[in-house]
This record gives sequence, structure tokens and C-alpha cells, in this order.
Amino acid sequence: MYDNIIIGGGPAGLTAGLYNARARMNVLMLEKFAPGGQVLNTDWVENYPGFPDGISGFELMDRMKAQAEHFGLEIRSEEVLRIEVDGDRKIVTTPKGSLETRAVILCCGASWRKLGIEGEDKLIGKGVSFCATCDGPFYRDQEVAVIGGGDTAVEEALFLTRFASRIHHVHRRDELRAVKLLQERAMAEEKIEFVWDTVPVRILGEDGVEGIELKNVKTGEVSQKAVHGVFVFIGTVPNTELVQGLVELDSAGFVMTDARMETSVPGIFAAGDMRAKAFRQISTAVGEGAEASFAAERYAEEAQGS
Ligand code: NAP
Repeated sequence: MYDNIIIGGGPAGLTAGLYNARARMNVLMLEKFAPGGQVLNTDWVENYPGFPDGISGFELMDRMKAQAEHFGLEIRSEEVLRIEVDGDRKIVTTPKGSLETRAVILCCGASWRKLGIEGEDKLIGKGVSFCATCDGPFYRDQEVAVIGGGDTAVEEALFLTRFASRIHHVHRRDELRAVKLLQERAMAEEKIEFVWDTVPVRILGEDGVEGIELKNVKTGEVSQKAVHGVFVFIGTVPNTELVQGLVELDSAGFVMTDARMETSVPGIFAAGDMRAKAFRQISTAVGEGAEASFAAERYAEEAQGS
């Protein structure tokens, strides 16, 4: 019987694991792929405290993993198929069998939201991308489009200036959502051309992206741009398939918790990007991971005593 099983190995999960391991709990982390989460796709992180010159997303996550393992966190690469609740006891099932635990911390994160327009699915991996860090170098001296006005879209557009000859940055309003510092950098960048009040309606091409069809939402005017890459950064959807019908979700599908990170099911906690909240940052995920670890520890102690 484990005290706690952490599902997901991004910043929230690794922080919860670090704290639980240092508290000498019998804790296990289950991660579908390799630990690190979405931060692994981030080229450079400059707002995580303690790194005045910034740090690569890969290195930051590698350090978090090493720190948690240094204190004894066991990490297994197994996908969780099911969570069942039997009073104080939770049963977590993976393809390798069932595990028993007192507490569970859900840290499953979120995935990129798709546009849902013609041509998108067909051309994913053939010019449609959700990761500039991964695919940017393929677009050296080529024109690309970036969709979205948040921090991710602007950061990734700035990263793409290292490779692409021109970036058509398409946003559905005439004002960016991204933090002001990023806005200033993007506005000063010659290679970035903003296309305001505009949404993509179709991605063109058969075996590779050849262009994008756009619609101005104010005038209704439809136009086409010849681009070889379309980078989509329009927010995220929570990875909550596993817990649908088990814990309470908000109308957008994010997990509801109280201030102790406890979900509607006693002993099941949630932290990080899958949680219903206003601000999704590495630093907030880390804080929530620590809160959840503390609450899970108290829960496991009480469950053991009862
Ligand atoms: P986001 O903040 O939710 O921004 C999504 C953007 O996509 C918005 O500009 C939105 O337009 C647009 N959009 C949404 N649906 C669309 C659609 N169907 N068609 C066209 N455009 C659409 O997402 P994000 O940029 O991925 O950021 C997610 C969270 O991570 C945020 O809390 C952000 O601050 C954080 N983050 C932080 C950093 C950093 O601190 N360095 C880096 C990356 C992400 P509207 O503006 O009109 O709504």
C-alpha cells in the first residue's frame, strides 16, 4: 500500500514528489512519457525565480527530476488507465497491474488546443505544429504563420525569428493577451508582421502546408497567405479524461479543488495546469504541488491511523 501516488511528472508532480520523498512517505510517481511536461517544449524560461539569466525548459525540468530522485522519489513510466475509490483506499491501474494507495495527486497537465479548421488534422506534422522549439529549425528562410495572442504565441513567434524569413502573426483581436514585456519585444521585431482581427479558416496544401486562408472578423474579408508552416498556440485543454465522472470539473473541464488542492473526492488532490484557476505558470504549478503534497501527507497519516 502506497501512501501517495502522483500521476504526471511536470513541475507540479515533481515538486509534490520532492516534498513527499523528503517526508519519507511511501510515494510513487507514474508518468506516461518522460518527466518534464509541457516545459520541455519551452526553449527559454525567464520568469522562474532563481535564474536571473533564464534557463532552458529542458534543463529546468532535468534539475527538478534530479532533485526529486536525489531524495528517493521512485518514478515509473506507466500510463494510468483507471482510478477507483474504495473508502480511504484508492486503486490505480496501469497496463502492468493495480496499485493500492491512500492518497492520489493528479498532475496530468494540459495539451495544446487545436483550431478545428479544415486542413489542420491532415497537415499535423506536415507543416502544422504546436511546438516552435521542436519544429522551428525546419523553416529556415521560409514564411510561417503563428496563431494566437497569448504568452505562448508571442514567445514562440520570437523564437521562430531565428529561422523563418517572415512570421505572419494572426490574432483574432487587435490587442495581444501576452505580458507587456513580450509584446514590446514582438513589436520591435522586424520579421514579425501582425495580422489583427483575423482568424484562420482553412489550411491549404495536400502533403505539406502551402498556405493559410484567413478571415477578417470585422470586415468579413477573406484572404490567403503563402506560408510553409502554421504554428498554433491558442491555449490548452486539460488532460482530464482519466478523472471524468470521478472528480468534479468546471464547465471548461478543469479539475475543481479547495485551497488545500483537494478535489471533490477525499484523498484525491490536483495541482498544476489541469486545475481550475486563473494563472498557469511553472511557479504556480510548483506552489500547488507543494500544497498538495502537504495535504496528501496529512490525509495518508489520518487514513493509516483510522
Ligand atoms: P492563453 O493565454 O489562453 O492564450 C490563448 C490565445 O489564443 C489568446 O490570445 C486567445 O485569444 C487565442 N485563441 C483562443 N482560442 C482561439 C481560437 N479558436 N482561434 C483563434 N485564437 C484563439 O494561452 P497560452 O498563451 O498558451 O498561455 C496559457 C497559460 O500559460 C497562460 O496563463 C500564460 O500566462 C501561461 N504562459 C506563461 C508563459 C510565461 O510566463 N513565460 C509562457 C507561456 C504560457 P483572446 O486573447 O482573444 O482570448
